Amino acid sequence: MSSDSFDIAIIGAGPSGATAAAYLARKDLGVALIDVEDFASETLHAAWLSAKAIPILDELGVKAGNLLKAPISELTFFNADFSKSSQARFDQHAGYLVERSAFGKLIRNSAIAAGATFMPKAAVTEIRLNEADLVLTLNDHRKVKSRLLILATGRDSTLATRVGFRSDAISGGLWTAQVDATLKSKQSTQARVCIVLGLDGGGGFCWCGTWDNRAVVNINLPQSRDRVIEQLQAICRHAFQQNVLPLDLADQAARATFYQSPAGGALDMDTHVAKHTLLVGEAGGFVSAANNEGLYPAMWSAKLAAETIEESLRSKFSQDTLMSFDSKWRMQMVDYLRSPHTDIRFLLPLIFSNQPMADRMGAAFLLGSNM
Ligand SMILES: Cc1cc2nc3c(=O)[nH]c(=O)nc-3n(C[C@H](O)[C@H](O)[C@H](O)COP(=O)(O)OP(=O)(O)OC[C@H]3O[C@@H](n4cnc5c(N)ncnc54)[C@H](O)[C@@H]3O)c2cc1C
Repeated sequence: MSSDSFDIAIIGAGPSGATAAAYLARKDLGVALIDVEDFASETLHAAWLSAKAIPILDELGVKAGNLLKAPISELTFFNADFSKSSQARFDQHAGYLVERSAFGKLIRNSAIAAGATFMPKAAVTEIRLNEADLVLTLNDHRKVKSRLLILATGRDSTLATRVGFRSDAISGGLWTAQVDATLKSKQSTQARVCIVLGLDGGGGFCWCGTWDNRAVVNINLPQSRDRVIEQLQAICRHAFQQNVLPLDLADQAARATFYQSPAGGALDMDTHVAKHTLLVGEAGGFVSAANNEGLYPAMWSAKLAAETIEESLRSKFSQDTLMSFDSKWRMQMVDYLRSPHTDIRFLLPLIFSNQPMADRMGAAFLLGSNM
């Protein structure tokens, strides 16, 4: 039985874990980045990425040029039956359509290039928190020893619950499902993104996107688990009839998997700090309650955690320094993560009749700006 020693172990090599690993490895710290997946198969999963994430990618030295080929410079809004529409325009690119797996791989590769030890196909089955360090047990019985731990295990994280973090706060009430398709012909390389607002007469929304030879429809419904697939199919049909999408994805939508999002969950948690441990990304509920955006909050929370870890390793009072993570992320991220104070039902008529309101809604959606 071998035992490897590191300054920091990170469980989960998704966008949050990989961001923390890249940041810490660039500071010449010994980083183990562990994931049960091998990431060998590239699944097609489109996502929109806020332009706010670009400075973090730059800071990590991630060469993202190839990935950011589908910029979003305008959004089209529709009401639920597609009878009204408006457009929000941006002076600069406000976001990008990206492939989620390619995006994660890019950050992981940056962490590996900076010196992080990547351990794929390794499930962490046990965490033992000692007085001065911690020991992880992997499914192949290897042991990984480290001084500090970042838990970046994504939604439904059983490890987070076992370390003592509250799981009820991060099992939010928003349901999401997505269909992705490859088209026969190329569309424009420019991303074309439409957002359907006011689904089910409330805060439900859907986004449809096309770029290159790809099409995607993603739905988000609060409290409406049973209606997710039904509504996704209806939107797919409408979007095709209204020429928003070049094909009808309703049949595919019938087979879509749906997920419960931890949107806004971070705000309801008492703490994201346990003994030697910080909790980041979706595992910590770092998902915007306004638009179910997860990539940028995952990276942002991971960057703040990595900064805290770096300080903690230099501090005589390591655990006290770790505790500062709670106030640090709250001070910086709360406004970005919480639901807008305004009820979307009151805003809807204005978004379709008033250009500045459409522009403000666009900036709120992609850049988290205040309405
Ligand atoms: C259908 C869908 C569409 C989405 N669309 C968008 C979008 O358009 N824009 C956007 O911003 N966000 C989107 N998101 C959300 C975004 O993908 C997540 O917020 C983001 O991936 C969270 O990153 P993470 O690193 O925290 O978690 P994850 O990406 O979930 O990574 C967690 C990792 O931990 C690993 N792991 C878990 N347990 C263990 C263990 N015991 N041992 C070892 N490894 C373990 C998992 O294998 C996984 O690789 C979407 C999500 C879904 C499901």
